[in-house]
Amino acid sequence: MRTALITGGAGYIGSHACKALARSGWRPVSYDDLSQGHRALVKWGPLEEGDIRDRARLDAVLARWRPQAVLHFAALSQVGASVLQPDLYRDVNVAGTECLLAAMRAANVETLVFSSTAAVYGVPTRLPITETTPVAPTNPYGETKAAAEDAIRRAAEGGKLRYAILRYFNAAGGDPDGETGESHDPETHLIPNAIAAALGKTPTLDIFGDDYPTPDGTCIRDYVHVSDVAWAHIAALEWLEANDEPITCDLGTGQGTSNLAVISAVEAATGRRVPWRTMPRRPGDPPVLYTAGRAARETLGWMPLRSDLPSIVGDALKWSQRLQ
Ligand code: UDP
Repeated sequence: MRTALITGGAGYIGSHACKALARSGWRPVSYDDLSQGHRALVKWGPLEEGDIRDRARLDAVLARWRPQAVLHFAALSQVGASVLQPDLYRDVNVAGTECLLAAMRAANVETLVFSSTAAVYGVPTRLPITETTPVAPTNPYGETKAAAEDAIRRAAEGGKLRYAILRYFNAAGGDPDGETGESHDPETHLIPNAIAAALGKTPTLDIFGDDYPTPDGTCIRDYVHVSDVAWAHIAALEWLEANDEPITCDLGTGQGTSNLAVISAVEAATGRRVPWRTMPRRPGDPPVLYTAGRAARETLGWMPLRSDLPSIVGDALKWSQRLQ
């Protein structure tokens, strides 16, 4: 059985990737400090507790499990918090990635799939985004992910590393079988917040800005089902096994959805009204983000299978009801 080390394996996207790996015949070993992840979400393989910046701990875990590949999800991922704590974000997201790369090199682990983000593109001047759109992040979170990408490219130049960089657009939804899902504290994402408001768990949903240059005035995003994001990692691993070239892919559907359209989908799924109010724009929010997603389709043979909005919202709702 092949083994993969999943940094951040106890987190939202990492846990879905563990399930997809296990189904594809891999043993996923999660490496997570549980600062944001949840022990209960590590269901498909062992958990090794550790900080991504702890070189000695990483060395010990790599020596114990001798993985064929690393999938690197562990990161701080909130745009707003990154503005308040840019040094912490640099430390975890950039220095943490550099530490992992050094540990991988020392342990002769040569395959890496990295979780990057649409936030590296900042406010694109042309849409749809493609992988050749200039990288120009507008907040520290996006900057740290772009810097981590650079660190990976540098490491590959000087060594034997094969890598895939996957830039997620808006990962959303939950495991269709209800085995894992999104549990952030505090929750900042639109879909879980809209569901919480519909179910009366929170009094109201704040919509950040209604004066954007979009048809209904609210921001537009490209929502991709987290299970589709997860299986893209399997496709990336298979591609890296067969090819010597590194690859960078956007993961999105090509479909833009406004914040108000998300509210309508949540109302349809719950059968309840979402109480919401308009609040000022959230600093750093680009008005419109969606990707052509060509590299993933044409090179990895990936396509979104469950990323229609009703499926995303339905699976997120199922998970949210489980949490009650
Ligand atoms: N958003 C909102 N209210 C919320 C959470 C998000 O209006 O409680 C908006 C946010 O300003 C953005 C969109 O929903 O326009 C998607 O935000 P999210 O945080 O889900 O993902 P992001 O695109 O920032 O990664």
